[in-house]
Order: sequence, then structure tokens, then C-alpha cells
Amino acid sequence: MLDTGLKVVLVASEVAPFAKTGGLADVAGSLPKALLLQGNDVRVVLPRYRNIQAPRTLGDFPVQVGARKATCVVRTAEIEAKSEEGRKYVPVYLLDNYHYFDRESFYMHPDEAERFAFFDLAVIRLCEFLSFVPDVVHCNDWQSGFIPLLMKLRASENPAWNDVASCFTVHNLGYQGRFPRAALDFLGVGQQYFTPEGVEFYGDVSFMKAGMVYSDVLSTVSETYAKEIQTPEFGEGMDGILRKRRHDLYGIVNGINYHEYNPRSDPRIFTTYDSATLEGKKENKHALQRELGLPVSEEPLLGVVSRFVDQKGLDILLEALPRVLDRRVQFVILGTGDKRYEEAFSHLARTRQDRAAAFIGFNGVLAQKIYAGSDIFLMPSRFEPCGLGQLVAMRYGAVPVVRRTGGLVDTVMDYDPATGTGTGFLFDEYAPEALMDALERALALYDTPEAWRRLVREAMERDFSWNKSAALYTELYIEAMGRKGKMERPA
Ligand code: ADP
Repeated sequence: MLDTGLKVVLVASEVAPFAKTGGLADVAGSLPKALLLQGNDVRVVLPRYRNIQAPRTLGDFPVQVGARKATCVVRTAEIEAKSEEGRKYVPVYLLDNYHYFDRESFYMHPDEAERFAFFDLAVIRLCEFLSFVPDVVHCNDWQSGFIPLLMKLRASENPAWNDVASCFTVHNLGYQGRFPRAALDFLGVGQQYFTPEGVEFYGDVSFMKAGMVYSDVLSTVSETYAKEIQTPEFGEGMDGILRKRRHDLYGIVNGINYHEYNPRSDPRIFTTYDSATLEGKKENKHALQRELGLPVSEEPLLGVVSRFVDQKGLDILLEALPRVLDRRVQFVILGTGDKRYEEAFSHLARTRQDRAAAFIGFNGVLAQKIYAGSDIFLMPSRFEPCGLGQLVAMRYGAVPVVRRTGGLVDTVMDYDPATGTGTGFLFDEYAPEALMDALERALALYDTPEAWRRLVREAMERDFSWNKSAALYTELYIEAMGRKGKMERPA
């Protein structure tokens, strides 16, 4: 285990359990715990949104946001990290400003550029306020994208910043923080940076591009996605800059929280179980069938838990489903999002009540019941930076049938009938026939109970905890410091 004792500030716009809309919050809430347990001094920074209750107050400092002199009030909380040796705590700093963050929702406000300009500027001032000189500032997604450049600019007034390395991680390339040129005024960043080599993106300012251009190292959430985003097909207009920085771009797959997602102790599921007590999984299946109003049977139960967006491959799933349901299978889906998909799946469930059930909404308890009760978990994504669903599914013994893209490639091993090894089934073409084909392979194996059980066990016993990935992030930080000339680069 690495025990490098690095000083790390991890910055994100959402961190579980304080604020969450997606996978970024899970990463920003889990990675620091693992980094702490591996001997690092890690601190987490996020905005203090309205929903975050009465944390303690440490003090305040002024932040100049364009012409506005704003005050940043620093509140504190912590994230508990449990290990065999006991409990430790990651310090969390919640940057509070009534004007910018005391609102109904986290995002999508008309003054988004100004809000996160304040946030990025305040992170720099926070370190100074705390007299904490980190080894690395780890920024995540566009909301913290300007910090690497601001660190460099600030170094002219405070040379301590010369020694601080920066790392920028892309969790979702689809959200780039793109705003009119005037956004630079809020940041106090000069117009000389408004160039195609700098922060300009098709006539606008891009926070994400700023992170990609000025951070010492870059990463994204799987190795395959790190390669894919260097192509026009997946690059969302950023592939040029990503190709330019390909030697500084790394892929580190996300983990999942092994305390929260543990079929041995999960209070949300019907019966706890593990890979040695798979009868418990069957009890979950039957209880789920009863809850869903489906016949209690041994037919394979296919599950989906997903945001309803085009990314997730729901159109090819919908096309394949009528044929899938002609097989002796049952189907359950939980999700919310695009109305088109909500209606299509609801309709399907109404017309095929004998075999299908659909739940529209966000429901963490039902999600776990589906992971525990399903035999097969479908994730036919068009693209997938990492994907957590398939990791949770494997941990709960639901065999993933997934498209060969992004993090799905790096985490699911295609079943090989010759050797009997693998953890799931993959398909290439983004087409209903290809999905059907992979599913047919899975269903055929399901009919051979002993081989199926071996596959389920193999999937359950894979290690997708944060330990491995946190160690890789530590290496990434050391790499970033190396690029700053502060440490020898690892061989
Ligand atoms: P993304 O971050 O693109 O939505 P991931 O697979 O990385 O996809 O993460 C999705 C996570 O959110 C999974 O843990 C999944 O179980 C959970 N999730 C998605 N939709 C729902 C829902 N409707 N109810 C409960 N949990 C959900």
C-alpha cells in the first residue's frame, strides 16, 4: 500500500452525502476516504448549498468577483472513513455565500459563470486562509476548471503557489461550462488568455477547457474512455486539446463504496447474502417478484436502473424488448429523465404486466432491491465514461450485459465459454440485434445452473473497491508533482 503522505485538496461542485446529482458526488465522497486511509492529508471543498444543514463556521474572507466584493464564509464538516483500525475523518470545507449558493437548486442558474468564478477564486483564498499549502489541488469537472490557471496567476503575488501541482478530472465531457467572453471579468483573468490555445472555445469561454489546458495532469474515469475522448466521435469538440495533451491524460476507473454497497449487510434489500450463500439472492428475487406483482418463478429476471437519457442506450433496449419478452424472461426497470422514455417503458409495463414492470422516479431502496433480485443487469450505453451501475450489479451477483464502450470495457470481462471465465457479456454494435445476441448468450448460460453460479460468483468476487483506484490517484498526484519539478517522476 502506498503511504506517501501527500497533502491534497479535492475540489468538486458536489460531494456525497452533502450534495448529489450524479456520479461525481459518489467519487468526490468516496475517493477522499480511501486517500485518507492510505495515509494522505486530504481535504475536500464544495459550495455550501441551501440543503446542507448548519455546519460549523470557521471564519470568512473577501473574494473579488469582477466588480463585486463578495464574502466567503467557511463552514466545516467531515466525512467519516471507517477501517479495521477504527474511524478517521476527512475535513470538508463548505464555501458559503448567501447570494451565490443559497438557492433551491445546485445548478442551471443564469449567473452560473459568476457563481463558479466565485467558487474557484475562493478555493485559492481558502488555502491561504487555512495556511495550507497543498502538494496537489485535484479539480473535478467544469465547475472547478479555472482553478489550475488561477493558481498560476496567483503565484505572482504568493510564490507558495509555484510549488502546488494541479490535476483535473473529467467525469462528464457533456457539461463544459461554456459562457460568453465576459465571464473572464468575474475571474480577473486577462484577455490574453482568450485564445484557441487558452480558454477560448468557439468564441466563448470554457471552464472545462481551462482545466484541460492549464492543469499539470489530466484524467478521466476509465482507461478506455480516456482513449475514446481523443476521437471526434466521443470528444464533444474537445478531442483536439485532449490529443494534444495525450501524454498527460490518464484513465482511472471509479470504485464503489464497499460499505454502502454490500449484499452481506445492505439494510435496503430483502435478505442479505454473499457469494457463498446464493440462496439468499434467490430469496431476494422472489421477494422482488412479489413486490412487482410478477409471477414468482425461476425465469431469469432482467433489471435496469438508469437515468433516462440518450447516453444509456434505451432506444435500442426498447426496440429489442418485445422480442426479449417473447423469451421466458421477466423485466424490471427503474429510472427517470426524458419523458419519451418514461412513457415508453410505462406503456410497455402496462401492456406486458405478466412479464414487465417499470418504476418512474429516483428510489435508492428499490434500486438496491433490483440489483439484489435481478439475474441479469442491462446497460447498453451509447457511451459510458465509467459507469457505476455495472459495478454495483456485479457486487450483488446480477450479471451485466453491456455494450463494449468506455468504462464498461474496463470493468466487465466477456464470458468465454472455452475457459468458463468472465464476469458478464459484451456486445459491440450499437444495435438491438447486437444487444439481443449478447443477451441470448447470457440466457443460454443461465440454463446451465452450475456454470451460471460460477459466473455469478466470479462477478461478485471482483474487487471494485476504492483501494486500487485511490492508489492510482496517488500515483497521478505524484506524476503531477513531478511535472512541477518538485519530485522525481516515478519510473
Ligand atoms: P450516471 O452517473 O451516468 O447516471 P452511473 O452508472 O455512473 O451512471 O451511476 C448511476 C448510479 O445512480 C448507479 O449507482 C445507479 O444505481 C443510480 N441510479 C440511477 N438512476 C437511479 C434511480 N432512478 N433510482 C435510484 N438510483 C439510481
